[in-house]
Amino acid sequence: MDLNLHLPTLLVTSVMINLLIGGMLWAIYHLRHRERCFLLWALACLTFVLGTAFAVANELPGAPGGLIFVAHLFLGASPLLVLAGIHALMGLPIAGKRRSSRLIHGALLLYLSGLAVSAGWDPVVARFLTALFSALIFSLAIYRLGSIGHRPRLPLRILQTLFGIHGTLMMTQVLVIAVSMSGSVQLDLQGLLKLILMNHLLLVSATAMALPLLAFTRSEQALVVLAERDGLTQLYNRRAFYREGELAFEKARRAGDLVTVLMIDLDHFKQINDRWGHATGDEVLKVVASLMRAELRDDDIVGRVGGEEFAAVLRNNNREAIEAITGRLLQRIVETGREVHGVPVHLSASIGGATLTRDHGSFKDVMASADKALYRAKHNGRNRAEFVPTSAAAKL
Ligand code: GH3
Ligand code: MG
Ligand code: MG
Repeated sequence: MDLNLHLPTLLVTSVMINLLIGGMLWAIYHLRHRERCFLLWALACLTFVLGTAFAVANELPGAPGGLIFVAHLFLGASPLLVLAGIHALMGLPIAGKRRSSRLIHGALLLYLSGLAVSAGWDPVVARFLTALFSALIFSLAIYRLGSIGHRPRLPLRILQTLFGIHGTLMMTQVLVIAVSMSGSVQLDLQGLLKLILMNHLLLVSATAMALPLLAFTRSEQALVVLAERDGLTQLYNRRAFYREGELAFEKARRAGDLVTVLMIDLDHFKQINDRWGHATGDEVLKVVASLMRAELRDDDIVGRVGGEEFAAVLRNNNREAIEAITGRLLQRIVETGREVHGVPVHLSASIGGATLTRDHGSFKDVMASADKALYRAKHNGRNRAEFVPTSAAAKL
C-alpha cells in the first residue's frame, strides 16, 4: 500500500491546509456577526491539527504514555464539531432531546471508554474506534442536511456527497483494520495513514468551500424573504409586488395574454382596529392573506400593497372567470370574517378589477384603473366588486 508519498510532507501539508482553512472560517465568523457555525467549523479544523500533532508526537522516542488517547480525542472531536456547526446553522440545539442526540451521546460514551481502554495497549484499536465514530457522525450529518429541505439544493447535495465519501472511506478503514486485526492480512500502517491523510486533505478542502456556500445561500434566502415579503402576512410587499406585476405585464403585452389586476381593500377596517384593538386587526389581515392564498392560484401574484390593501395579478382568465373568483373571495371573507379568533369582527372587503388593454402604457396604469374601480365599489356600498369596462377595440 506504499503510495511513494513522503509522510512528513503529507502531514505538514495537511496541517498547513487545515490551519489556513480554519483561519479563513474564523475570519468569516468575525465578519459575519459571529455566526456560530463558522466558529465551530474553524474549531473542527483546529482540533484536527491538534490531533495530528499529538499523533506525530506519540511516534517520537520517549513520548509520554497517553498521548495517543489525547490525539484521538481531538481527531474524534473534529467531525463532531462539523456536525455541531450544521446544527448551529439550522438553529437546532447541539445536544437536544431527539433520537439522533441520544445516539450521539451513546456513541460518544462507547467511543471514549473504548479509547481509554485501548489507547494504553494498541494505537491501532484507537484508530479503528475513531474511524468508526467519524463514519457514524458523517452519516448523521448527511441525515441532518437532508432534513433542511430541498433548498438550497446544490450546496446541500455537494456536502452530502462529500460526507458520504468521507463516511465510506472511514468505514473502509474500519474494515481494513478489522481484517488486519483478525490476523489474516499484514497491515501496512504507514500506507494506511498516508491514505487517510490524503483523503482528509481533499475532503477538508472541498468541505471547507461547500460549508460557507451552504451558509451564504441560506442567509441570502432569508434576506430575500425579508426584503420581498410583508412581515405580517408573508405575501409580497409593495415593492416586490410591483416588480412581479411589471414582469407579468411585459410578458402579457408581448404574448397578447390576458392579465387582470385586482385591488382588495378591507371595509371599515379602522373601526375594527378602534373597537377590537390593533392586535385583532393584525389577525384579520393574516386571515385575509391566507384566504387569498387559498382562493387564488399558485402562479397568481399576490401582495399586501398598503395597510389593509391587498392586490393580485391574475393571468389568463376571462371576465367570467375573474368575476367568479372575486365573488368567491368576497364570500369567503364575509364567512370567515364573521368571527376571527373568537372576536365578532364582521369583516367584508371591496374589490376593484382592471384587465390589461392597449390603453395601458405600464403596469402602474392598470393598477390605477383597478384603483378607480375599487373607489366605485366603495362608493356603491362596499362588500362588492367593480370592474373597469373593457371595450372590444381596446382589448389586446
Ligand atoms: P374603507 O372601508 O373606506 O376602506 O374604510 P377603512 O377604515 O378600511 O379605511 P381607512 O383608510 O380609513 O383605514 C385604514 C386603517 O387600517 C387605518 C389603519 O390604522 C389600519 N391599518 C393600517 N395598517 C395596519 C396594520 O398593519 N395593522 C392594523 N391592525 N391596522 C392597520
Ligand atoms: Mg385602504
Ligand atoms: Mg379599507
